[in-house]
Amino acid sequence: MDRFETARDAAYKLRPDQPLYCFRPSVLRADALAFKSAFPGRMAYAVKTNGEPLVLRTLAEAGIDCFDVASPAEFAAARAVSPQAELLYMHPVKAQSDIRLALETYGIRVIAIDHEDEIAKILRIVRARDLAPEEITLFVRLATRGHAAYELSKKFGAAPGHAVELVERIAKLGFKVGLCFHVGSQVEDTGTYERALASAAWVRSRAGVDLAALDIGGGFPAAYGSDPRRKQVVRPETVVLIADIVREAEEWGFGDLPLVAEPGRVIVARCLSVVVRVLLKKGRRLYINDGIWSSLSDSWTGKITLPARHLPDPARRPRAVDGDTVVPFRVCGATCDSVDILSRPFYLPESIGVGDWIEIGHIGAYSLSLRTHFNGFYPDRFVEVTTPFEAAGPVEGFASIETMGG
Ligand SMILES: *Cc1c(COP(=O)(O)O)cnc(C)c1O
Repeated sequence: MDRFETARDAAYKLRPDQPLYCFRPSVLRADALAFKSAFPGRMAYAVKTNGEPLVLRTLAEAGIDCFDVASPAEFAAARAVSPQAELLYMHPVKAQSDIRLALETYGIRVIAIDHEDEIAKILRIVRARDLAPEEITLFVRLATRGHAAYELSKKFGAAPGHAVELVERIAKLGFKVGLCFHVGSQVEDTGTYERALASAAWVRSRAGVDLAALDIGGGFPAAYGSDPRRKQVVRPETVVLIADIVREAEEWGFGDLPLVAEPGRVIVARCLSVVVRVLLKKGRRLYINDGIWSSLSDSWTGKITLPARHLPDPARRPRAVDGDTVVPFRVCGATCDSVDILSRPFYLPESIGVGDWIEIGHIGAYSLSLRTHFNGFYPDRFVEVTTPFEAAGPVEGFASIETMGG
């Protein structure tokens, strides 16, 4: 992979007409290790956030040896980079054949469930293969309530009363029992974790069963841009948030249990930016060569303001004006689909024009894995970049881009 100091260097050297991904392995290593050292439990990287081999390989080389996986392809991807890795199979609803593969072929011994029928599926394999239930930990996934850019308890999780029954049933069958929750993604309200912990404490006290671990899931927010016209949200720094949650867990009586966390977004968001090109400018609208069907769907669904940096084409006449007024542009994606318009504007100099590039920062989470081939556009070119996005000069249009722990 070609290596550059900054995305600007890459853009000016390669003059890419297709989106160009700028991968920063040093940033990825730093963010992963910052979380790992701040969290006093087992950290499992959530593979679905970004399962690209180069990302997983970089994490494995940095010593990350535990992965939250949800499918056979994710089992294989994690083991391909780390043959000894521990895999936590945290998808609550699974195919019978996938459970068999997990237990038999991959030796997975940690599985999440939120319904008795999932226990029955697991039991079928355990009995058929004569496995020892006490070597398997089943985590009961609790439903949670709260605010996140993505609310995930609409789909998964057992209500507290039901969770108590599941915990008791699992214990009676001889499995080890854990409690887990996943509060959503890009969670900016710490109260969400507190409510989940309160619910876990209630289930624990009602069930009266020895627990093996508490898994607090993912959801830790990453740093993005902020819209100057909106109320500024202060995001907790990752290390501070982790310390708060751990203290809260102790207050709810979980100080005696091993903790597990499954961070995704906060590990990978900063390690990737994409350099896109302006194809057309119509007043305050920019048409770019990427969009919601390629790298940018997460910002669209999650209504996330992405930090963007103008990289004017030095060959363009007339040149972009230095120190130009920064204005909001509506950003239209590459496909012919009319929903392919970003939900948040980019703040960029007014003189930006056709042929200029924009570096969009912090897109490492839920970007590469959500690319589609829709309309024939599928960006897939990578370069390595050594300077962190926010260190490569000011980000136009953002008074400051919040930097977070690590
Ligand atoms: C998606 C997911 C994660 C990772 O979530 P982030 O918000 O990216 O940290 C963790 N655990 C489970 C069960 C998930 O589904």
